[in-house]
Amino acid sequence: MSKRQDGAFAERDRLIRDLFVRYGQLMDYCDTFFGTVRARAGSAMVCGDGCGSCCELSSVTALEAAVMWKYVRRRRLHVKPLAPRRRGVCVFLENGRCTVYPVRPMICRSHGLPIVYKMRGRDTVCWCPKNFRKMRVRDIPKSWVFDGDAATVQLVKMNLAYCLVTGKRQLADRRVTFRSIRTGKAARVLA
Ligand code: SF4
Ligand code: SF4
Repeated sequence: MSKRQDGAFAERDRLIRDLFVRYGQLMDYCDTFFGTVRARAGSAMVCGDGCGSCCELSSVTALEAAVMWKYVRRRRLHVKPLAPRRRGVCVFLENGRCTVYPVRPMICRSHGLPIVYKMRGRDTVCWCPKNFRKMRVRDIPKSWVFDGDAATVQLVKMNLAYCLVTGKRQLADRRVTFRSIRTGKAARVLA
């Protein structure tokens, strides 16, 4: 391998590492936001261990999938038999607990918060009906509202950069299924 090729590979690896760091920072931001609102909201938020009613996710972006696959492989979760398919239930949910909790994707980290999205040009705030019961949008302090669109834009940008840098252009607008990550089949596309 020539020096130039060596340098190109080193640069590529540096960019990938940098993207993983930035992705981790976005996840930390979500966790901090969630923790702060949780502490302030008190009993108005009931998210907690064993409540997995919102665990219905079935796919993620390539960048999130790569992070999750690393964790699954390290923990050897992919060699464990898969529980029978439960319609509308995330394959990572076992006995009411998330088996990939430290690497769960962004949407799982923000679920439960009041989230604002732009819908038909208007800001729309929504939340899990188990939380903030009897509260109306105007009762929710603005500082408790998570900007879903802004966080998604950041994630989409990072995912696009990840797909380009790793040469996985074809994954930029596709999602990787949880089932393929859990069973290890995703290793082929993420390699
Ligand atoms: S978002 Fe709703 S369903 Fe999900 S953990 Fe919180 S309270 Fe439970
Ligand atoms: S990854 Fe974890 S937190 Fe997210 S839906 Fe699946 S079980 Fe729930």
